[in-house]
Amino acid sequence: MDHRNLHIVVVSTPGIGHVIPVLVLAKRLATLHGVRVTIVRVTVAGAPPEPKLFTVPYPDDLVRILQLPPVDISHVVDESTQIVTRLFMMFRAAASSLRSAISALEPRPDAIVADLFSVETPGICTGEFDDIPKFYFIASNAWFSALAIYSPILDREIAGEYADLHEKLAIPGCVSVAPEDVPDPMLDRNDEQYGEYLKIGRSIPLFDGILISTWEELEKETLKAFRENETWKSIIDIPVYPIGPLTRPAGELKPSSELFSWLDKQPDDSVLFVSFGSGGVLSPEQTTELAWGLELSRQRFVWVVRPPTSGRADDEFFTVGGERSQETLAHLPEGFVARTGERAILIPMWAEQLEILSHPAVGGFLSHCGWNSTLESITNGIPMIAWPLYAEQRMNATLLTDQLSVAVRPAVLPAKKVVSREEVARLVRSVMEDDETGRRMRERAQQLKITGAEALINGGSSHKSLSQLLSKITASKKKQPTTPLLM
Ligand code: UDP
Repeated sequence: MDHRNLHIVVVSTPGIGHVIPVLVLAKRLATLHGVRVTIVRVTVAGAPPEPKLFTVPYPDDLVRILQLPPVDISHVVDESTQIVTRLFMMFRAAASSLRSAISALEPRPDAIVADLFSVETPGICTGEFDDIPKFYFIASNAWFSALAIYSPILDREIAGEYADLHEKLAIPGCVSVAPEDVPDPMLDRNDEQYGEYLKIGRSIPLFDGILISTWEELEKETLKAFRENETWKSIIDIPVYPIGPLTRPAGELKPSSELFSWLDKQPDDSVLFVSFGSGGVLSPEQTTELAWGLELSRQRFVWVVRPPTSGRADDEFFTVGGERSQETLAHLPEGFVARTGERAILIPMWAEQLEILSHPAVGGFLSHCGWNSTLESITNGIPMIAWPLYAEQRMNATLLTDQLSVAVRPAVLPAKKVVSREEVARLVRSVMEDDETGRRMRERAQQLKITGAEALINGGSSHKSLSQLLSKITASKKKQPTTPLLM
């Protein structure tokens, strides 16, 4: 079916981890299906510029980025206001400019796609846009999506804090979730962000379908539950479109030459990449232990180093790309740089992660398990050390270790106890050395890499799923009157 006359609006949440999959989705819609896409970006006033993400132009100017005037929420937040609350506040403050921006678009959009924190979009768009189908885009996995959708029910059925429970949280048809793995907003039911988070589950049924950055072969069981489990279908019965993995192709950024000429000289699969996503930071003590552990492992590594924080692990969420890069290396143990110089590269603040992970010398990834990082590792066939910090990363880490067998992890969550240098060294060796554990994880990661690539080719499961979504939008467009109604 030809979808070249479609125009889709994507409402995007700020934060690199949200912007990247939205850009990838837009690019895929434009490149593979000739669809016109307008990305509407809502941002917060005073945020620093983002790192450059894409340099290759979009085909035939099919993708436009519309930046709404940044919203100022400084008068309603303070130090204690959590990220999810801030994001919801931001969308509410931007509601009227979002509505006006969508109604001014030419041609009139045929579908509206709202990403994670713009979940209230159907409410924002009632009235004027009732005839336009709306889809919810979750740039995470199906398991997390299931928990988010099921959370309002857990809220009714369970008393007290989830983290204090002794039993796992059962979700119909899906793997149960360990209490300590619940996403951040579920850790404190008295915090305002818990109430905001529940709105995700309550609002998703208002959409006409859910797009998830996963694929059939990666999350068979959960996706099957969405389609076939009767309890599940009594809770929510809208189509789910697994359209992942949504990762940008490597090579779009020009990598820094010093790092890549060093990587070119290292043997295949010999370098561990260490990075905690766009927003992750460690405590001073953990930074020291990690540095010592990397040194003791005697393995080669590339580490994206950030100054430690005494605050929250997601401290850099709104500020990455800021001005703090110079002070970074000063926090490492004395003599560390000199002692590891031959076999390590330290990069302050930000690196071209995807280009690094796709270099043949890289054979392991110590990661905070953000979903983009997870996909970038899997789609390059790289086993991981799962080091979850915040958001839904604890679930992602468990998915990687217990369900997909492509990662090892510290015995105790890094948020609960500092991971010692000895444990770091042991984990690094188990991923990088050519022993049984490392070999098995590498093989598994290679298998997943293949299934991910197969899902995306013409006829693959995710390609088909995206085509089905576009056919649905095209069919609903045909139902609408083509000429204005005379009043
Ligand atoms: N990223 C990068 N360089 C960095 C840190 C992060 O290119 O130094 C990219 C990374 O490749 C990924 C995204 O930023 O695409 C981070 O998304 P993820 O979901 O992994 O984590 P988040 O930042 O949302 O916690």
